[in-house]
Amino acid sequence: MTAIRLDALTRTFGTVRAVDDISLTIEDGEFFTLLGPSGCGKTTLLRMIAGFSDVERGSIWFDDRRIDQLPAHQRNIGMVFQNYAIFPNLTVAQNVAYGLHARKIARGEVDRRVAEALAMVELPDHGTRWPHEMSGGQLQRVAIARSLVIKPAVLLFDEPLSNLDAQLRTHMRVEIRQLQKSLGLTAVYVTHDQEEALAISDRIAVLRGGRIEQVGTPEAIYRTPGTAFVGSFMGATNMLAGMVEASDDDTTRITAGGATVLVRGRQGAAGDRVLLSIRPETLRLAADGHDGPQLVVRLTLREFLGPILRLHATLPDGTALRVAALGGQEVRATPGAEMALGYDPAQIIVYPAP
Ligand code: ATP
Repeated sequence: MTAIRLDALTRTFGTVRAVDDISLTIEDGEFFTLLGPSGCGKTTLLRMIAGFSDVERGSIWFDDRRIDQLPAHQRNIGMVFQNYAIFPNLTVAQNVAYGLHARKIARGEVDRRVAEALAMVELPDHGTRWPHEMSGGQLQRVAIARSLVIKPAVLLFDEPLSNLDAQLRTHMRVEIRQLQKSLGLTAVYVTHDQEEALAISDRIAVLRGGRIEQVGTPEAIYRTPGTAFVGSFMGATNMLAGMVEASDDDTTRITAGGATVLVRGRQGAAGDRVLLSIRPETLRLAADGHDGPQLVVRLTLREFLGPILRLHATLPDGTALRVAALGGQEVRATPGAEMALGYDPAQIIVYPAP
């Protein structure tokens, strides 16, 4: 049962501010994800919590205990790495037991806890196997068992699923999530995969250039991104440059792509340059019987993807627009023809132009 508090953490490498004045509280039992593009500082931040990277400025607290001056092995963390970090010359059980030997725990207790940890990751009969006899997914489970066996206060994951194929990744993330919840452990998880972050997290911090861009639940980060960077980083969106034509307390009219788009609420004043974010799935094929505002577009291409029907279209000035509809729907327009798309002004997000 451990909450983690990061207070004004900073770490520089030469002229690069890898972690730049980050303050954050991760609740006890929370599954918290650090997400961001390559080089945003997520791994450095995780390694600082683990004790593998020095804290240059700031402090790290596990509950009311300051831990940033402690060596890694005294922090009571379990860490799972992308490359598994399994010792090839030790059996599965010896790998899992590794951290217990370092803690000088009696032999019988070691055997009991190793068996318990292997059962948790559903490898109860694999203790005598050698790493080369295990698949990638099984090795990652061994790595998770090894991190759990020491009964850590905090579990840290550094892109643990990146080396697995897509199907196994989606399966393993469910298992990791269930295990973490059932054990009630606080978890910090690093990934650059937006969908994985949305699926697995209680909350996400989106990082950019060593700083926190936004912290929130997956729903909040996806539906109400605070900045254009978060909006376009979190899943596909149509980001259109536009200009405010008129606005009042109810509605703002914006020209973008040669069309007029309505957005709920007052969003700046006439003449302001803005960016509009329109998620592909918020656009509706007007054949739905939608009676709100519409955008008339020209269909370029349709891709039937089974559950999803993806349309590629253009706005009047040629700006590309992507649409994602449920796969069962019919599109009467053929490529080259015009079609109308419905939308809800409340679902369009406006940012000031950079
Ligand atoms: P990735 O997803 O590519 O692993 P990341 O978000 O985890 O990226 P970090 O590995 O934390 O990013 O790196 C943040 C910045 O700090 C980068 O610019 C990186 O080049 C730099 N950096 C990280 N570690 C070191 C180091 N040991 N020496 C010098 N620069 C470093």
